[in-house]
Amino acid sequence: MTIRNTDLTACLDRLRTTLGERLATGDSVREQHGKDWSRLPPALPDAVVFAESEDDVCRVLEACHEFGVPIVAHGNQSSLEGHILAIRGGIALNLTRMNQVLAVNEHDFDAVVQPGVTRKQLNQHLRDKGLFFAIDPGADATIGGMASTRASGTNAVRYGTMRETVTAARVVLPGGRVTRVGSRARKSSSGYDLVRLFVGSEGTLGIFTELTVRLHPIPEAVCVGACPFGAAASAIASVVDAMHMGLDVARIEFMDSLSIRMANSYSGLGLPVAPTLFVEFVGAPDHVDQQARAFGEIVAMHGALDFAWSRDPAERSRLWQARHESLYATTAWKPGAEVWRTDVCVPISRLADSIAAAQADIEGSGIDGKILGHVGDGNFHVAYLVDPKMESQRDAVRAMIARLNHQAIANGGTVSGEQGIGIAKLPYLLEEHGEMALEAMHLIKRALDPRGIMNPGKMGSEPSSLPKQATQS
Ligand SMILES: Cc1cc2nc3c(=O)[nH]c(=O)nc-3n(C[C@H](O)[C@H](O)[C@H](O)COP(=O)(O)OP(=O)(O)OC[C@H]3O[C@@H](n4cnc5c(N)ncnc54)[C@H](O)[C@@H]3O)c2cc1C
Repeated sequence: MTIRNTDLTACLDRLRTTLGERLATGDSVREQHGKDWSRLPPALPDAVVFAESEDDVCRVLEACHEFGVPIVAHGNQSSLEGHILAIRGGIALNLTRMNQVLAVNEHDFDAVVQPGVTRKQLNQHLRDKGLFFAIDPGADATIGGMASTRASGTNAVRYGTMRETVTAARVVLPGGRVTRVGSRARKSSSGYDLVRLFVGSEGTLGIFTELTVRLHPIPEAVCVGACPFGAAASAIASVVDAMHMGLDVARIEFMDSLSIRMANSYSGLGLPVAPTLFVEFVGAPDHVDQQARAFGEIVAMHGALDFAWSRDPAERSRLWQARHESLYATTAWKPGAEVWRTDVCVPISRLADSIAAAQADIEGSGIDGKILGHVGDGNFHVAYLVDPKMESQRDAVRAMIARLNHQAIANGGTVSGEQGIGIAKLPYLLEEHGEMALEAMHLIKRALDPRGIMNPGKMGSEPSSLPKQATQS
């Protein structure tokens, strides 16, 4: 897709008249909207619109549809796979000014928010209501961005992902028409599930202007523990047993030795350097104590070196803050090193083998790499530290990432548990989904976005953007 200069100029002229200073074309603002956390080269939009209302979004989608100009929605720009790069130019639609919590329905356990509300902002808003919003990626992402990437985090094992969390939304479609999808009912068997179609669609089908999200009661008691092991395999075997035995786990996270070393250095965690599980139980005080004791028995059977647990809120914040800061800790570990990272998810029975294979690959490469993950879901992340002067390390990491993704698919899993496809994961889409499923996705895309202006080139939404073979990361 190429935009003709005359079309772009006409589109910007139209939007300048309607939006005034909410349309910006300066170099620095375009640069801020042209790079992300991935290792992909920057790609700048031609202009940035700071939307302040649904009406602004409608005006932008109407003009862009008419003139064939691409649109890339922006939340807090924390996505990791090249989602927000303007690879076909066009308009970056920044939604962070649409940041009002519109309603909290305490008795129904839901909230209605604008897309630019961040997860921390929503929880701050809820602090006196005995409720909380459970989805917690490491970054303070926007609810619109999180819905669009189907994000999750440490709480997913108990509370699910954005897929289970968004129950309704208002979405602006190409051309500027607004549609309402879903409802506030706890369940529905009415019609196609359009909420789940838009959730995870990475801004390739429409723009969220309002979202209804599930909330949860703040538990009466919370118990957290950290549990070091002599070997990663013992930690993972404990997770699998705990899940099989139906322990009421709220969070269960794995961090390998290098992850712990980095967290000790960056977040002052002060834990022994060893493959470690962080675990959390929630509920009535007796219940959490009983669950922690049962967990202690499981990990003892697997040779845990220790299991210290506590109901102290300060200890809880200390552990989870360090876990959430993990990517920042990686970036700070070796100044100048390139951080290459990936995220896969496998059925829990395949988790031990998958992590062992990733670990063996890292050890064989001589490159620093760390493994951590939301292991209760079978989801783990690998981050590699590449010396930028050594092209051979880049090649080795590319090959390791490719192997990891191929193995995840071969194990019945997915190449992205939570971070999405963007551009970086395009090479694996065909292998994971197969031709017919991709064709169905393209048909949906063409029906909703016939001019192909919505975040073009991302998530496999353009057949031509899909590599023929999955060979690179
Ligand atoms: C330190 C760190 C830790 C992270 N940890 C996790 C983690 O644990 N789990 C996890 O899932 N992710 C994690 N991420 C990735 C990231 O936080 C998520 O992908 C998040 O959902 C992106 O939200 P955002 O507001 O930053 O959106 P952006 O990055 O701005 O946008 C993400 C995508 O959504 C689209 N989009 C944004 N707003 C809208 C809208 N209103 N309507 C339609 N499309 C829209 C964009 O076009 C883009 O495709 C982490 C990132 C960092 C930097």
